[in-house]
Amino acid sequence: MPAEAVEVGWQVAEDERMQKVVQKGTTVANPDWAHSVHVEVAGLKPERWYWYQFKAGNDTSQIGRARTPPPAFSLPAALKFAFASCQHYESGLFTAYGHMAKEDLDLVVHLGDYIYEAAGREKQIRKHVGPELNTLADYRNRHAQYKTDPDLQAAHAAFPWIVTWDDHEFANNCAGAISEKPNVSPADYLVRRAAAYKAYYEHMPIRRAALPDGPDCRLYRRIPFGRLAEFAVLDTRQYRTDQPCGDGTKAPCGGELDPNATLLGDRQEKWLLDGLAHSTAAWNILAQQVMMARVDQAPGKDEKYSMDQWPGYEINRRRILRFFQERKIANPVVLGGDIHSNWVNDLALDFEGLNGQTVATEFVGTSITSGGDGSVKPKNHDAILAENPCVKFHNTQRGYVRCAVTPKEWRSDYQVVEYVTRPGAPLVTQASFAIESGRAGAQRT
Ligand code: FE
Ligand code: CA
Repeated sequence: MPAEAVEVGWQVAEDERMQKVVQKGTTVANPDWAHSVHVEVAGLKPERWYWYQFKAGNDTSQIGRARTPPPAFSLPAALKFAFASCQHYESGLFTAYGHMAKEDLDLVVHLGDYIYEAAGREKQIRKHVGPELNTLADYRNRHAQYKTDPDLQAAHAAFPWIVTWDDHEFANNCAGAISEKPNVSPADYLVRRAAAYKAYYEHMPIRRAALPDGPDCRLYRRIPFGRLAEFAVLDTRQYRTDQPCGDGTKAPCGGELDPNATLLGDRQEKWLLDGLAHSTAAWNILAQQVMMARVDQAPGKDEKYSMDQWPGYEINRRRILRFFQERKIANPVVLGGDIHSNWVNDLALDFEGLNGQTVATEFVGTSITSGGDGSVKPKNHDAILAENPCVKFHNTQRGYVRCAVTPKEWRSDYQVVEYVTRPGAPLVTQASFAIESGRAGAQRT
């Protein structure tokens, strides 16, 4: 695009052929914002599908579809959504999104690693354009490249999305203003972060309320679905303290018990707990990035925990779980990604997570592609399940998780594709789990 402003028309209609237009207007695609537009349409009817389309010059966009949420005080009969994460472009094809686009869903939740920041490499399924991302132009080009994928386009066109980021939208295992690489000054790192966050805002369906202010961007927010469910969409990257013990998957080193360590930051944690305390939702969903269960990843006598996930911030983890119990939060369900594998976990109060009372349920979704073709029964599978009674299910197949929520029951289906390194993988429901309202913990169905 030339560096000039372009007028863009938009229309919202009640039908897929865009004949019953209910609202329309014009906006400006500005080169300062990568020619992106963020139109916020008020006054639509609740709980129904709308279709939308853009026009610039003589070109019209594909028609997209979005569903408005139910009225605030209604109790909808059901919420149907899918959640996904981790779509490394070089590791495979986004076949899973092609399947997701055909599902019957109200919305899609993305938990981060929407792009990956690494330089293009040879001998992959397909290649990133450009070097490791650093400048605003680099981040913009990477987002643009990902958005060329037809399956990803189809999933965006089919549903409204609720998005949050993890680390790779910016830099691997970032923690606040601290790089995983030594000798990167916080000032330089924040300049890079400002570029990453701006490009994310430009290219993702988020509201003007999330407009970044330099290297800061408030992405955490609450999204209610009537009184049936409320999503607390979290950001566990921007405000966290540094990973303890030098990051990685490590034996307990003491640093994971630092009472000042935080994944959420004080303000976000207070906001989260205040919101949960006042929530009237039947299901309280934490849509966030990293696994909360304290899972020993080392088979045998050794114990190893991921210092980048909640177990690296154990006191913070316990504080959230204790709050669920003490305040009798209705049906807390934690959604996560990042780890490129599927998990169903009971979240217990006690430190070992073995015999304590289950206070919440966790569904961790695998990657769309990251890690390449996965497996139904990964190495260490039996040891992990034997040594971690909180784990009900684990595999490393690719795909997403489909959830159907009613006032009485939550159901999660692990939707997988057997391969992503070549096209055409069919969709398989590998496992299904249910939570009965009022009783934390998932049961295999
Ligand atoms: Fe990832
Ligand atoms: Ca072990």
